[in-house]
Amino acid sequence: MIAPAQPSPHEKMKFQLGLRQRGISDQAVLKAMGDVPREMFVASLDRGHAYRDTPLGIACGQTISQPFVVAYMTEQLEVQPTHRVLEIGTGSGYQAAIVSRLCRDVVSLERYRTLADRARLALAELGCPNVEVILGDGFDIPPTLGTFDRIIVTAAMEEVPPALLERLEPGGVLIAPVGPHDGRQTLVRIVRGADGFTREELLAVRFVPALHGVAREL
Ligand code: SAH
Repeated sequence: MIAPAQPSPHEKMKFQLGLRQRGISDQAVLKAMGDVPREMFVASLDRGHAYRDTPLGIACGQTISQPFVVAYMTEQLEVQPTHRVLEIGTGSGYQAAIVSRLCRDVVSLERYRTLADRARLALAELGCPNVEVILGDGFDIPPTLGTFDRIIVTAAMEEVPPALLERLEPGGVLIAPVGPHDGRQTLVRIVRGADGFTREELLAVRFVPALHGVAREL
């Protein structure tokens, strides 16, 4: 059977209800999760599963994150409409689309050209003019990109590099999955305060690894 291209209203309602039941309470985040069609960001064969609360495979052996984790990270980021946000790990572009509904601009870096190209197309089709997808390495961010109010890392880092923390504006917040590539990772929230950085551990998670360099394969 070919999956329908559009979810039923019931399916979409269940999706938002599920996020609420798991503790997502920020109305702007819930609205963004309801407004952005996840089916536009998954592989065509997975369209029928777009509103299940699970990660799904995309090209280049990568994954689109579980909706709850996308909503949770977005909520914890406490994004304001004036903010400039950096994402490391564009993947499908779904997380960038969600955040873009809540802030001024998103710059998103992806190390696979195929994923960066596809994400740009999906984001253009959906209408997210405030997202810029750049083929690049989140461990080696071009200085011209400057600093950010918020940074969201969506691939697991063994440690958060000090150079990345330096890209946070004062008062800025970074969220990243931190831990070994093949083991248990923890979602970490780091805030740049007047007296330095404070770090808080949020949730056990499982992300694909952050790897160095732009991928040589497509
Ligand atoms: N946020 C994505 C899911 C990301 S999966 C979404 O909403 O679909 C993690 C992504 O991070 C993968 O696409 C992977 O290629 C990318 N990645 C891993 N290491 C990276 C790095 N150093 N710089 C940029 N992207 C990286």
